[in-house]
Amino acid sequence: MSTVTEIFSSMVFDDATMEARLPKETYKALQKTIKDGKHLDIGVANVVANAMKDWAIEKGATHYTHWFQPMTGVTAEKHDSFISPKNGKVIMEFSGKELIRGEPDASSFPSGGLRATFEARGYTAWDATSYAFIKDGVLCIPTVFCSYGGEALDQKTSLLRSMEAINRQAVRVLKLFGNDVKSVKTTVGPEQEYFLVDKSLYDKRKDLIYAGRTLYGARAPKGQELDDHYFGTIKPRVAAFMKELNEELWKLGILAKTEHNEVAPAQHEMAPIFSTTNIAADHNQLTMEIMQKVAKKHNMICLLHEKPFAGVNGSGKHNNWSISTDTGANLLEPGETPYENAQFLLFLCAVIKAVDEYQDLLRISVASAGNDHRLGANEAPPAIVSMFIGTDLAEILNAIETGSTYGTKEQEILKIGVHTLPKFPKDTTDRNRTSPFAFTGNKFEFRMLGSAASISCANTVLNTAVAEELKQFADQLEGAADFESALHELIKKTISEHKRIIFNGDGYDESWVVEAEKRGLLNLKSTPDAIAHLLDKKNVDLFTAHKVFTTTELEARHEVMLENYCKVINIEALTMLDMAHKDILPAMSAYSKELSEAALEKTALSPDIDCTYEKETVKSLGALLTSAYRQVKQLEADLLATKSITDNVALAECYKSTILPDMTALRISADAMETIASSEKWPYPSYGELLFGVR
Ligand code: ADP
Ligand code: MG
Repeated sequence: MSTVTEIFSSMVFDDATMEARLPKETYKALQKTIKDGKHLDIGVANVVANAMKDWAIEKGATHYTHWFQPMTGVTAEKHDSFISPKNGKVIMEFSGKELIRGEPDASSFPSGGLRATFEARGYTAWDATSYAFIKDGVLCIPTVFCSYGGEALDQKTSLLRSMEAINRQAVRVLKLFGNDVKSVKTTVGPEQEYFLVDKSLYDKRKDLIYAGRTLYGARAPKGQELDDHYFGTIKPRVAAFMKELNEELWKLGILAKTEHNEVAPAQHEMAPIFSTTNIAADHNQLTMEIMQKVAKKHNMICLLHEKPFAGVNGSGKHNNWSISTDTGANLLEPGETPYENAQFLLFLCAVIKAVDEYQDLLRISVASAGNDHRLGANEAPPAIVSMFIGTDLAEILNAIETGSTYGTKEQEILKIGVHTLPKFPKDTTDRNRTSPFAFTGNKFEFRMLGSAASISCANTVLNTAVAEELKQFADQLEGAADFESALHELIKKTISEHKRIIFNGDGYDESWVVEAEKRGLLNLKSTPDAIAHLLDKKNVDLFTAHKVFTTTELEARHEVMLENYCKVINIEALTMLDMAHKDILPAMSAYSKELSEAALEKTALSPDIDCTYEKETVKSLGALLTSAYRQVKQLEADLLATKSITDNVALAECYKSTILPDMTALRISADAMETIASSEKWPYPSYGELLFGVR
């Protein structure tokens, strides 16, 4: 048995490995490239590639791949072996060119029209800030994926660009405080929720197989109402899964830290220690992949869908986000001195203004057909974006805005840059679990992300929006005659103009919806509602100004999001029809026949035997069979009608307002049949079996 410290990062070509295996000059050159984001010299790349190959072969690898994140939400890889023919034998080779650039024939990934088929090839290029690693005997090189014309075809390119944008602007702001840092990076710790179900049960459910969620299923008598699963004892089988998961993640240098049972039965969570955003994004993709792989080894299936089961909580991915300097300071840490406090308040205001002005983009960044089942459904944050900052901080902001006194002792008027902020106990900031965007003492927790999605999109938006506000602040403050009073005025003005986004109350409460509307906040309930704002002028201006997306790239994303939404619901609808036609309707018809025969036989035996149960059940099933059948026909007709819609916006709208309600109606009839039918006769494992292991 190896110890954790021995296995940790053992499959990663990390800094220590590079230092040990590369000639000093090469190591230095590579470090410089990584730090400055410069192009890697081909001579250096050749040496690095060779060392990487030798290391990978020692670890049992035979192939390499450029590992990338196309707009499908999952990662992609195409393996090439190291072999190269020589004198009738083979040698193992890997060149610098192969390391830094790849040309996968990847024409089938969604591109939103970015690639005409004649130039369908995409290019991959090494993101040297993310270490290469070995997975399943393959050396994986984390890469970006672009078109021939340099347009981003993946999730990573824009994320890296957004990190550049916030770096540029934050460094400007920090200079004003006499803070001479070289660079800032955003950091993320994503908490991953998931469900585990028994594989043999999963295999019997077409909906889980095709759609990743149950499309039918009557509630079990028990759900999560007793909260007895949350943080409960972990079952041995799950514990064995978690143990192996941790080991696999640690090997890849992923800082798996916390594990526990979540609110819903069969639901769990894993949280890593935070890291730089693009690495956190890579690691989260790997985490999801490895969760699924390890679960199978334990005869379970890991469900990453946002809402696998109706009636119990769905799964999200809390995105803990902060900004830190190359000198190790966390810019969202309130600090000790008046100057640190002032700097903190300015960064806080940048986030407040960003969240208010780009509510729509934040909502869009988490929008998907799957996540629509969670947001606003009294289990996850509402679809309304708002911010929680805690009462202590709210009081401070209020005191600044109104120029009133703060605190019980001093009764002084708060002057930024002069007075020290009182210390606020960290845990008072972490109480509100209903807020979509909560300040938790030294970071923000964006809680709207769905469990299945990449964290790249949300962080691209967050980084870029905050970069924009920092830019505006820097523009104003750089020219100020009196920095301190200009700073005070700017903070005051920002609070006053954007405080509507701050809400410290219960985000699940009905009254918040009304109140939010009064405040003029957006309530974008569904993915099509949200996507409609992606190409609004202010959003296009934001992304193009900071060189995160070109207009063409944004239009492509708009297209991909709409397409994906429609395709997901189409698959779900077809799966429901398949299950109804092939399994549910025939099973319930046969069951009715069986009950009818039982009644007939009982009556034949003696006319005075009571057959109320059989007769009434047959009658109820008959009515439900008819309505289910009609609903099947309706869904079929409406699906057929979608074929004539050519515009993607109209198509998405149709899936939302026609197909989804059809599916809901059909489900209600089917679930009602499941409720009264014998468990022997129902063609699928029940919620009770899936969630509690009982029939
Ligand atoms: P909990 O939410 O369970 O109280 P923590 O608040 O300590 O736990 O951390 C939750 C997540 O936030 C963890 O993944 C942690 O690594 C991450 N986190 C902590 N500090 C930062 C930071 N400065 N930037 C980004 N993420 C952070
Ligand atoms: Mg948390």
